[in-house]
Amino acid sequence: MRIPIIAGNWKMNMTISQGIDLVNKIKDITLKTDVEVVVCTPFTALMDIKRAIGDTKLKLAAQNMHWEEGGAYTGEVSPVMLKDIGIDYVILGHSERRQYFGESDDDVNKKVKSAIKYNIRPIICVGETLEEREQGQAEEKVKSQILKALDGVEKKDTADVVIAYEPIWAIGTGKTASSKDANNMIAYIRNIIMEKYGDEAFDKVRIQYGGSVKPGNATEIINQPDIDGALVGGASLKADDFIKIINF
Ligand code: PEP
Repeated sequence: MRIPIIAGNWKMNMTISQGIDLVNKIKDITLKTDVEVVVCTPFTALMDIKRAIGDTKLKLAAQNMHWEEGGAYTGEVSPVMLKDIGIDYVILGHSERRQYFGESDDDVNKKVKSAIKYNIRPIICVGETLEEREQGQAEEKVKSQILKALDGVEKKDTADVVIAYEPIWAIGTGKTASSKDANNMIAYIRNIIMEKYGDEAFDKVRIQYGGSVKPGNATEIINQPDIDGALVGGASLKADDFIKIINF
């Protein structure tokens, strides 16, 4: 039985005090259903948010990391530093990082293997552009991103891997994939996992949907049979909206 995971990606938003305020509103709420809730904060807020989370069940994630444990990489943050703070998850290969910061599939793969090495669970983002979808290349693109991201990842580590299917045209645009299309792509991704790793991984890997998830569409999307939760951007910045989503 896979527990749905709902992660709020704050992106480059929230000062420390704003983040603490938000976390204080969401950390103790009663969940309707068994669900894992994660906040993905900017690096600057991680330590204070970790303290604000305290011993509640809320989990903490970074939005990126370097693959090396340390060294001459000005401006980067290593897995050792993130583990030191006590984070649970790290978002890797978000389309904004691929698009604006030139992250390649190879970079994402190195980060995924490094996260696993340091016991940080990766949330690996994949998804097609509108052009690729219109040209019937969505599945091919997503398959290639997944196989490259997981190259060299062992079967025993797959239970800790989360995949976020985020069609790029749906991120921050207000457009969502239909729940049926999202479910179909996620079922397709699960089959890729099955072909690569077999039945156990097929059952355990959690695959979220991301792209303009809001209180009004969360229930329908997350209740699809193959969808194991959501990666939420804009709607995770308002406590009321995020609470509605996590109580889908
Ligand atoms: C995201 O940041 O991954 C995302 C899906 O953003 P939004 O929900 O705002 O589309």
